[in-house]
Order: sequence, then C-alpha cells, then structure tokens
Amino acid sequence: MDLKNLFSGFKKSNKVPETKTCKKCGTEHNYEDLFENFMICPSCGVYMRMGAYERLEITVDEGSFKEIDKSLKSKNIIDFPGYKEKLDAAKEASSLNEAVVCGTATIDGNKCAIFVMDSSFMMGSMGTVVGEKLTRLFEKATREKLPVVGFTTSGGARMQEGIYSLMQMAKVSGAVKRHSDGGNLYITVLTDPTTGGVTASFAMQGDILISEPKALIGFAGQRVIEQTTGETLPPGFQRAEFLMQHGFIDLIEERSRMKYTIARLLELHSREVGK
Ligand SMILES: [Zn+2]
Repeated sequence: MDLKNLFSGFKKSNKVPETKTCKKCGTEHNYEDLFENFMICPSCGVYMRMGAYERLEITVDEGSFKEIDKSLKSKNIIDFPGYKEKLDAAKEASSLNEAVVCGTATIDGNKCAIFVMDSSFMMGSMGTVVGEKLTRLFEKATREKLPVVGFTTSGGARMQEGIYSLMQMAKVSGAVKRHSDGGNLYITVLTDPTTGGVTASFAMQGDILISEPKALIGFAGQRVIEQTTGETLPPGFQRAEFLMQHGFIDLIEERSRMKYTIARLLELHSREVGK
C-alpha cells in the first residue's frame, strides 16, 4: 500500500495540520510521517485517534469508496440549550456533517458496506442522524446482500437529543438483526474509546468483534461503576486486552494489519456462502 500517494489525495480535500503532538509522550511529529505510520506515535507507540476519512484511506481500496447520506444534518429537535452552537462548532472542527461516515467500498477487492465513526464530531455521540445513517446503511446492505464493516468510536448516546438518541439503539439494532437474518456478515472494529449506548447496541452486535490494542471499551465509566457498587475495579478493566481475556471480543489486531485481516475475513465468508 503506497500511503504517500493516498495521503496527498487526502490532504487536498481535508484540513490537515503540519504537525501533531502526542498527548502521551509530548513529542511533536510531522503529520504526514505520522499518517504513514498509521497515526501511531513513533516515540511511544500510542495509537492516536483517527478521523473517519483517514481511517477509510488506510482501509479501503483507492478510489472505491462511494459515500451515502453525506448531507444529512442534525437539528435541535428538543430545543436543548446550546446544542445548535455545539453542532456548528463540531462541523467547523471536524469538517464533517455528523459523527459517522457511511458508504460502500472494496477492501482488497471484497465489496462491502462500511461505516466509520469520528470522535472529533461531538465525541462520536449518537443522535438521530447517526442512527438514521446507520439504519439506512444496514438496510441497503441487506437489500444488496453486502457484508458490513464498521469502525466504532463514541462517547455514547447524544444527551442533547434526549430520548430520541436512546431510541436509535433499538432502531439500529433492528436493522442489524434483519441484516443478520438475511445471512449477511457484520464485522465491527472497536477503537478507542467505544462507550455508552453505542457499546450497548450495534458496536457489540457484530458477528466478529475486533479491537485495536488497548482501546477503552465499556458501557458506564470506571468511576461511575466504582461509586455505584462501592467496589474497586481490577487494573486494565474495560481495556481491549481485559475484554479479550473475558471472552467479550474475538480478536485484537494491530492497526497496520487491520486491512489485511478484514479482507481475509470477508474473503473467507464469501467463499463459505458461495458468492
Ligand atoms: Zn507518543
């Protein structure tokens, strides 16, 4: 994979800074060098968070991504104070209309429907538009008998939309179930952090659950659980490695090998069902 060429195309269409400082070790890196290293800090090895389009660049075949429902935008449906301003700021900061990007693509020649969440848009929180985009994607994949590959990152349901955001959990889950009933494969890749209502619904409903190393995956936060139960939680609680040990996820894969692993899984599945 020639990331240099990919990056120049990506750079043209997105706001990309010259440098980025690692939050863990404080080292400043040239952004392009970081991208070529899959946004993994060369100094300390920490996995930095990736934007949705960056993730697509390193995952799907060049030029194969066709985005759908790009223009859907959230409204302040319950007149929550300050929500409109938050949405405007999120759009400006992320260059996105919402916290998930959906479409179809090929991965090493294997056609699939794909969604990628982006934590730079209101911490990847799920409101009605995120729920609607995901539901439409699963419905399209069901009609066209396509596997779905989903990258999750989220702080959970979007509180500014009240009960409407929680309803998305059931709505998306219904679409995932119908996709599954049609005999179609769903692979989720859990990235740091995947929490709250997203973990409690479609993030954990994949047939195969993959995680990036050390990703935080959980429902309620560690402090909330400790305060509620009055118990101290074990070290590494809610990290990918802990969940793997306890049978919640199937595989932890390095970022640099993720495309290869997803492609092999898609290939194996398509052989199995004789497509
Ligand atoms: Zn670092």
